[in-house]
Amino acid sequence: MEELRNLTNREFYSILSKPDNEFEDFIIKLNILPKKTQICVCGGKMNLRQRGTRGVTYRCTSKNCRKERGRKKNSFFEGSNLCYKDIFELSYLWSHNQASMENVTRCLRKSDGSEPSTKTVVDWKNFFRDICKIYFDKHPIVIGGPGIEVQIDETVVTKRKYHRGRMPATEWWFFGGIEPSSGRAFMLPVQARNRDTLFPLIRRHIAPGSIISSDGWAAYATLGELPEGYVHKTVIHSENFVDPVTGTHTQSIESVWQKFKERHKHEYGTARTLMEQYMIEFLWRREFKEDPFYHLWNQICQKYNFNNNEEDE
Ligand SMILES: [Zn+2]
Repeated sequence: MEELRNLTNREFYSILSKPDNEFEDFIIKLNILPKKTQICVCGGKMNLRQRGTRGVTYRCTSKNCRKERGRKKNSFFEGSNLCYKDIFELSYLWSHNQASMENVTRCLRKSDGSEPSTKTVVDWKNFFRDICKIYFDKHPIVIGGPGIEVQIDETVVTKRKYHRGRMPATEWWFFGGIEPSSGRAFMLPVQARNRDTLFPLIRRHIAPGSIISSDGWAAYATLGELPEGYVHKTVIHSENFVDPVTGTHTQSIESVWQKFKERHKHEYGTARTLMEQYMIEFLWRREFKEDPFYHLWNQICQKYNFNNNEEDE
């Protein structure tokens, strides 16, 4: 996977312009696609062959078996009607936040004028988001550490369904934290804002020994008594944005909320699942902004785990 680290645009497109066969070898070497021979359940060797409309499949070379298997089975490419290069390019555009429908259509349009359907593109963007979610489920973001400042806060996102004043607005509460020194952040949807809800999240996402600043919300009052040894500082929002005595403030977390809501306002509706998907994408982009394309494929590899470098018997 190191081949994908810190690629420049030109390096990426020079990989993409390899002849199809060489490109396939390249992604096999990355462990993104299974290698060209496989071992059958019978122990025989399986080779690739062209199978008309079904495309390329593996077939067992053992005379009494002849079992077949899909070329892309168990890989991230399984079930797709896009070619490897299109998916690779789409993943590049998506990871660099350039996957608007207009841009994707322009980049993936073939010389005969054909282009992927809107549904196909939307599906793939969802597959990339699924990868982000699976990654975070396994590797929750942990910020802070001994002596490191973390700011926490809750916020609410409200949406009026029909732009009519009388309809009750839909409300979602979120809780989150940021490490201002690095900009790393976590956030989660919450059903309530009491101590029983918030403390387990704090202990899961903030490392022991952190210096936590928060507003004066009562649920935080005993934060300094947790076994994690947090140092708790409070700032009263309405009175002073920056506490003149301790210098404690929560400006960084406010700016995370602002960015989150800003984009959400334009692109997303009121469905809870969409809101949570968007939140995960938002966090993933923050966490991996240094090299998103590399991290995306590295995480895909962790989920679709086959080892092309194992020697055949
Ligand atoms: Zn076989």
